[in-house]
Amino acid sequence: MDPAEMKEKLNELFSGCMKGRTMYVIPFSMGPIGGPISQIGVEITDSPYVVVNMRIMARVSPKVFDILGENGKFIPCVHSVGKPINSPEDDVLWPCNPENTYITHFPETREIISIGSGYGGNALLGKKCLSLRIASVMGRDEGWMAEHMLILGCKRPQDKEIKYIAAAFPSACGKTNLAMLIPPKQYLDAGYEIQTVGDDIAWIRVGEDGRLWAANPENGFFGVAPGTNDHSNPNALAATKKGTIFTNVAYNPEDNTVWWEKLTKEAPAHLIDWKGNEWTPETNADGKHPAAHPNSRFTAPATNCPCISPEFNSKKGVPLSAIIFGGRRATTTPLVYQSRDWNHGTFVGTIMSSETTAAATGAVGVLRHDPMAMKPFMGYSVDQYFQHWIDMGKKVPADKQPKIFNVNWFRLDDEGHFLWPGFGDNMRVLDWILDRCEGKVDAQETAIGYVPYAKDINIENTDVTPETLDKLLYVDKARWAAEADEIEKYYDDNFGDKLPKEIRENLATLKANCAK
Ligand code: GDP
Ligand code: MN
Repeated sequence: MDPAEMKEKLNELFSGCMKGRTMYVIPFSMGPIGGPISQIGVEITDSPYVVVNMRIMARVSPKVFDILGENGKFIPCVHSVGKPINSPEDDVLWPCNPENTYITHFPETREIISIGSGYGGNALLGKKCLSLRIASVMGRDEGWMAEHMLILGCKRPQDKEIKYIAAAFPSACGKTNLAMLIPPKQYLDAGYEIQTVGDDIAWIRVGEDGRLWAANPENGFFGVAPGTNDHSNPNALAATKKGTIFTNVAYNPEDNTVWWEKLTKEAPAHLIDWKGNEWTPETNADGKHPAAHPNSRFTAPATNCPCISPEFNSKKGVPLSAIIFGGRRATTTPLVYQSRDWNHGTFVGTIMSSETTAAATGAVGVLRHDPMAMKPFMGYSVDQYFQHWIDMGKKVPADKQPKIFNVNWFRLDDEGHFLWPGFGDNMRVLDWILDRCEGKVDAQETAIGYVPYAKDINIENTDVTPETLDKLLYVDKARWAAEADEIEKYYDDNFGDKLPKEIRENLATLKANCAK
């Protein structure tokens, strides 16, 4: 929308919007306070929920004002739930204004103004609004990148140092899980370890050594609660044991604990559900009345996480060996493949698409394009964003560029079961990825890029049979030819001749390879 028109509308909506409420001023830093690449913001809000969550998700401190001094630069963030208390009935438990919700960003002036919603992404303005949408514009202008990526460190007995990987998956496709992965027993015994640097956002810059370095600007985890348990993600669960805020989960008045679907195999006999109503397992007999909202959340301090990286507070971040893209694909996309070079890797990011889940949209299983998992978070036009990726590659010599991969943990068999065990067993794929980065393993060249030889993915101590592994790694040229046609249509419908030529060339190569 025209910024001038939007401002006019916002001025109307903000007039008197905090009446009867307390206004809070939150000085915060994304990245360690005083760090050379950190960004300072000041959020004004009328929501105490925002205040307590911001204190976990960002570095909130009056020290931020000392650093700013008289004329320091900061990003102004203005938030209101948009529900003035004009009469006692307005003083509700969860104030918001769904009819007048606007989450607005002004990239030219680097301002954020949000009204009507208390939801994390809309109200904790340091996260998606500042660290992705506004930061992506700063990155374009200043030659760095703000990406929707987890960052992990991998310690392997055969490597001299810890290797770092960043990975972009759309929401609800496994970033938090991968960031906190616990390797299978045989890997643990051999000395493997995963260290979490971040689970959602990466700021990436060219370092003094000419490599790409990634830093996590956040200070906590705003994770999806349902499905998090001692088997799926014990490190995330451990991170919630103290100093954590739970939103829209169920409450167990019997023992004063919280609960969500799949936290335990059996639901407790009696709960208060996320709406505050009495709940028993019978209540959800139709499967439509879960005790916790499917998108219920925990806000946990990063330092609670048992596998937090010693580099978490590093002011310059960590050097990247690999970048991984991925999504939820029932067919077509193999377990893992490697791009041929930076521009091809960028192309692989642009063609990302994923099947939707309940947490994200409500409609399940619909295929959506989500380039680099950034569709909801780009602060400027998509074609320019693709060009920025190409330009960033030019800043780094080929031998120092991270290698770019694509993974898919979600391929299904004919009965709709996952072919790949996932979670901790994803270590087996990371191992191949790092071996490729080190030049220690060969791969087969296919129409889409380098795919592992089956013998190089370790399936020892899993239920995966050699036949299943073959299916997981199979590249079906006919399906990819159809995929390429669909990608071409997506490009033409959305970008036309604005699409960078390097991307167009890689599509042509894919088409030619599929026709061979
Ligand atoms: P995020 O929103 O990208 O951080 O995703 P999460 O890590 O919270 O995971 C989202 C959902 O994907 C959860 O229901 C997880 O249980 C599921 N998930 C994560 N990793 C895997 C995996 O490797 N395999 C399978 N089948 N499911 C996974
Ligand atoms: Mn997550």
